[in-house]
Amino acid sequence: MTLLKGKVCLITGGSRGIGAGIVSKFVAEGATVFFTYMSSSDRAEQLIASLGDLPGKAIAFQSDASVFASAEAAVKKVVDEGGRLDVLVNNAGITRDNLMLRMSEDQWDEVVQANLKSVFNLSKHALRPMLKNRSGSIINMSSVVGVFGNAGQANYAASKAGIIGFTKSLAKEVGSRSIRCNAIAPGYIETEMTDVLDEKVKESFLSNIPLNRMGTTEEIADLTAFLASDKSCYITGQVISICGGLNT
Ligand code: NAP
Repeated sequence: MTLLKGKVCLITGGSRGIGAGIVSKFVAEGATVFFTYMSSSDRAEQLIASLGDLPGKAIAFQSDASVFASAEAAVKKVVDEGGRLDVLVNNAGITRDNLMLRMSEDQWDEVVQANLKSVFNLSKHALRPMLKNRSGSIINMSSVVGVFGNAGQANYAASKAGIIGFTKSLAKEVGSRSIRCNAIAPGYIETEMTDVLDEKVKESFLSNIPLNRMGTTEEIADLTAFLASDKSCYITGQVISICGGLNT
């Protein structure tokens, strides 16, 4: 499996959930993967240990994607140690759910900083090495909630909708330099982020999914690997839903 052989990739929030699935898939496909985490260094080390003798390799480091200077340092580290940057996956994200009347300013700010400002931070710094190489693929993790909205998630939905506008604009801006930018809109995927949801909310989600089950991190990773690879070289500016038909 060598779909990403020779590619140097940066994935934010790779220690758990969807990000960890993407790290494993990219390494299995031969990539050199740098991934960040916010605080779970143990989980990052366990993930690296679990990769065994897969063809690629993974390097983990702490970096807060919501901080502009940290994003700059993260991209510099990748280029210094990896020699180039071919693929950026803006995956890091958080939820701070609450109904609008109860939502605090902090809950709004934290989510927008971690989910949307982070995409600006990393993309801005990643563009320089990509422009130099006249190639690159930026993949932003949005959500079906960013397309349709969800009660109790106005902050999260706004951040994920913002990612879609950002993705389309950047695709138009840098397409002429062979740099692509796409968004993935997952539906309801089995991770710690969805574990915390109320059973009633889970049941109502499931009743609206034609494929009648939650998605897996492996399924998101497969789509991300395709968008990272040269197999998708004529796809840019798109929002690709992967949701078992939830948004049909
Ligand atoms: P998760 O299990 O909660 O994992 C989140 C990851 O992001 C962790 O690695 C975490 O690091 C990292 N992270 C959080 N804030 C960060 C920051 N400021 N800087 C760097 N890393 C940070 O989440 P998930 O379910 O895998 O979700 C991954 C992405 O998919 C998110 O953008 C989420 O919004 C999106 N998504 C998820 C679903 C779903 O159903 N799960 C659906 C649609 C979209 P630590 O481990 O150190 O905390």
